[in-house]
Amino acid sequence: MSGKCAAPFAPHVSPCAAPLAALIVCALLMLAPSFARADIEVRMPASEPRTFATSEWDGVEYITADDVSLIYSASLYWRPELQKMTLRLGDFHVKVTAENPNVVIEDRVIHLAAPVLFRAGHLQLPLDLVTNILPDLCPYPVIWRPEPRLLTVGAPGSVILDVTRNMLPNGIELIVRPSGPADFVTRELDGEIQLVFPGSRVLNEQVPLLEDDPFLLDAQWIQNVDTLTLVVAKTDSVIDYQVTREGRPERIVVRLSAVPLIKDPQSTSGTMRALTSPSGRTRQIGRVVIDAGHGGADMGYQNGAIIEKDITLDIAKRLGRVLEEEYGIAVAYTREGDEEVTAERRTEIANEAQGDLLISLHVNASTIPALRGTEVYVHSPGIGVSERIERIVEEATTRYRTEVVGGLLDQSLRMIPWDAVQTGYKKRSGEVARSIQRAFNEGEDLPTRGVKQGPIGVLAGADMPAVLVEFGFGSSRDDAKRLIEKTSRERLAEQVARAIREASSG
Ligand SMILES: [Zn+2]
Repeated sequence: MSGKCAAPFAPHVSPCAAPLAALIVCALLMLAPSFARADIEVRMPASEPRTFATSEWDGVEYITADDVSLIYSASLYWRPELQKMTLRLGDFHVKVTAENPNVVIEDRVIHLAAPVLFRAGHLQLPLDLVTNILPDLCPYPVIWRPEPRLLTVGAPGSVILDVTRNMLPNGIELIVRPSGPADFVTRELDGEIQLVFPGSRVLNEQVPLLEDDPFLLDAQWIQNVDTLTLVVAKTDSVIDYQVTREGRPERIVVRLSAVPLIKDPQSTSGTMRALTSPSGRTRQIGRVVIDAGHGGADMGYQNGAIIEKDITLDIAKRLGRVLEEEYGIAVAYTREGDEEVTAERRTEIANEAQGDLLISLHVNASTIPALRGTEVYVHSPGIGVSERIERIVEEATTRYRTEVVGGLLDQSLRMIPWDAVQTGYKKRSGEVARSIQRAFNEGEDLPTRGVKQGPIGVLAGADMPAVLVEFGFGSSRDDAKRLIEKTSRERLAEQVARAIREASSG
C-alpha cells in the first residue's frame, strides 16, 4: 500500500483507502490509531470546492453512487442480477445492495440510516455514508448543507496535521500544525479554550498529554459534521493564556501560563484575557443518581452468563450501598428492579432527584474478542475521529443502539445542538471520569481504556455532572470472568465509590 491519499478529484483510481486500512490494522493491534497516520503524505484537494446535489427519498437525504465515485475516485461495479454494487476505493471494497441498509466494508457490516435505493435511474446511497463513514478514508472536509441541499467537498476548511506540546518556564504551549492557511475562531466555554475550525478535519488527532500535567487537564479534538474543535481544559494553576499564529509555515500556538503573558502585538488572532475562575457551583457531591443500564425487555449485551441488565443493576446496588454506608453520600436510582426505563425518563429521574452526579452503568461489547477494559464516557455533542473509526471497525457493539444519541451509524444526519445542558458540566464531568479511571487503574481488576467523549443520550439532558461507565467487555473472556464474580463486582463498585468521594471536595 502506498500510504498516500490522493486528491478526491484525481482522474485515476487512487489508493484513497490507505489511512483506513492502516487504522483497521492498528485498531486490531490495539495501538493508538494516530500511529498509522504519522507518515501519510498529504496532497491537498483541488483548490476549488466541488459541489454535488443531493435528493430526498422517503424523508432521507441520498446521493447517487456515481457522485460518490467522483468524490472518492472510486470505480463502480454494478451487478444488476444481484442488485449489488461494489465501490472500489483503492484496496478497499465497499459493497451495497439495493433496498438494504447494510454496507459491507472489508467484511464488516455497517448500518446506514436508511436502505440503499434504486431511484431515478441511479443507485442512491444514504448521505450518511458520505458524511460520516467514507470521510475517514480521506481527510478532506465533506460538508452537507440543507439549504440549498448541496454537498461541498474539498473546501473551505483545512486539514490539521497534528498537535505537539512544549514545556515553557511557567507553562506549556500546544502547537497546532495546519497543512495550509487555516481559519479558526477562539472561544471560551466553561473555562475551556476552544479553537473552532469550520469544515476541517484532523489527521493525527492525538494530543500529547502528561499524567498529572500541572497546566493541562485535557485536550481533545472533537469532530462534528461541519466543524473541527480543539478543546483545551486547563488546570487551576493557569492564570493566563494566548492563542497566536506564528512562523512560516504558519503554526497556531496555544500558550497556557501560570504567570501573566507578555502580549505579542504581532499576533493575528487570539483571545488574550485571563481565564474565568472555576465555576461557582459546589464541587461537593452530596447525592449521586445511579443509573443501572437497560432493564426489562431491554437486556443489553448478552453472552452466556453475562446479561448486561442484571450486572448493571447488581453493581448499581453495591455502589449505592458503599456510597451511603461508607461515605454518607445520598443515593437515588433510575431503576431498582428489572424494569424498562426510557433514556428520557432516566434523565428526568436524575433531574428530579437534583443529584450532584449522574452515573450510568453499562457493560461493553465488541466483535473483536481481544478488546477488554473499562471506559468512562462524558457527553460531548461531537465525537473524536479515532473513536469514530474505532466504532466502525468495532461495529456491532450493542451499546450503540441504546446509549448513543444521534449515533454515527444510525442517524448521523441529525445535529445535536451545542447548547445541550450537559455541555456546561463537561469539565466537572471530565474530572469525575478521570477520578474513576484512576481508581480502576489502581484497583487493577480490569485494564483501563481511558476517558472518552461521545454523544450519549442518557447524559445529554442531565442538569448535573454526568458520566457513563463501561465495566469492561462482556465479549472478552477475561473481562466476562471478572464480571461474573460477585467479589470483583463488589471491588469495582468500591473503586467507583472511592473515586466519587475523591472527586468531591466537600
Ligand atoms: Zn449498555
